[in-house]
Amino acid sequence: MATHRKVLIIGGGITGMCTAIQLRKLQYDVELVEIDPNWRIDGAGITISGPTLRAFKEVGVIADIMEQGACTDNLTIGLANGQVVAQIPTQRVAGPDIPGTGGILRPVLAQILAKATRASGATVRLGLTYTAIEQSNGKVHVTFTDGTSSTYDLVVAADGVTSKTRSLLLPHLPKPEFTGQGSWRAVVPRPAEIQNASFYISKTTKAGINPVSKTEMYLFCLQRMETDEFIPKETWPARLAALLSDFSGVVGQIRDGLNEHSHILYRPLHKLMVAAPWHVGNIVFVGDTMHATTPHLASGAGIGVEDAIVLAQELDRHENIVDAFTAFASRRYERCKLVVDSSVKLGVLENLGTEDAKQEHTQLMMKAVQALAAPI
Ligand SMILES: Cc1cc2nc3c(=O)[nH]c(=O)nc-3n(C[C@H](O)[C@H](O)[C@H](O)COP(=O)(O)OP(=O)(O)OC[C@H]3O[C@@H](n4cnc5c(N)ncnc54)[C@H](O)[C@@H]3O)c2cc1C
Repeated sequence: MATHRKVLIIGGGITGMCTAIQLRKLQYDVELVEIDPNWRIDGAGITISGPTLRAFKEVGVIADIMEQGACTDNLTIGLANGQVVAQIPTQRVAGPDIPGTGGILRPVLAQILAKATRASGATVRLGLTYTAIEQSNGKVHVTFTDGTSSTYDLVVAADGVTSKTRSLLLPHLPKPEFTGQGSWRAVVPRPAEIQNASFYISKTTKAGINPVSKTEMYLFCLQRMETDEFIPKETWPARLAALLSDFSGVVGQIRDGLNEHSHILYRPLHKLMVAAPWHVGNIVFVGDTMHATTPHLASGAGIGVEDAIVLAQELDRHENIVDAFTAFASRRYERCKLVVDSSVKLGVLENLGTEDAKQEHTQLMMKAVQALAAPI
């Protein structure tokens, strides 16, 4: 369908950038505003699951990801002492020529997507947000913080889990909820013998590693926490080392190398799953604004990229914008809910730490991974 539309995207995270790229493929006039003047995406590594690799292939950035990240096959599962108990093959969901899983540094992924966004022809305006957003006669009128204003056929809110747009337009929705765990990440050098992702289980803690480039990998570890309080940064190396005290093998080696210069990040985990509809008039919500998950299935960013793909497909299919938004949310809701609900449940089972919980954890993980391999 060749309808020409003028679109504003609020938020230049992974979901917003992929939405800009996909909508430019429809020849829409796309503007993206990002509040951060430096368009930084901080963070450690991010795991790119098979379905997420498939989505990035559709967006058109897979070659850069494979070159600048690390795409690997197989997942190693071991005990805290480093003993390997299983090698699980990862399904090549993105095609026979693309490994089953991957990892990349978040800032590197952000640079790849920012370059592709600009190359798509989208107009990117940094250090900017809106002060007013109003709808009339099937159009959205937006005034920006620099005093400019413009009118759009549709607006895509991709401003993340703490979305100002969601609070403004859907104030009755519950706030994101703390899930009872905190996430630790550390970026460390990748020894040559580390060929794929792995995780190791102690009595109460699961820690793992994933390569993110030819020379780097990241450590991930989840911890049961009573509250989502801020932990002072200067205590992070010692707290993470203490959490990993049971481990030997590769995780133990990483622990022994931690110091005040280590690239460590701690973040309490929250979740949000909003029931459809995901739009208010001609404004639609995508990514973490509607479905923010914990990292247990490494799929939060992936379902944001998929949102971008499906939204573009439905806009292309429907003459009426609201019909497109309705079709979009109905195609996305169950899949995103599967990711959020399963991820949160995996965290609950980890916190229980019993043998029964461990078995249920494995079964749930396998069921979810299989379900997510299905086409979107
Ligand atoms: C600890 C942790 C680990 C994770 N690990 C993985 C993983 O391994 N794999 C995976 O697939 N997913 C993972 N996720 C999930 C993933 O990080 C998120 O789902 C994803 O980053 C969401 O992208 P987004 O673009 O929707 O939102 P965001 O990344 O939050 O982007 C929102 C953007 O909007 C901008 N913005 C905000 N407000 C405004 C405003 N008012 N005006 C203009 N711009 C604004 C922000 O600056 C930001 O750039 C993890 C999440 C956590 C918490």
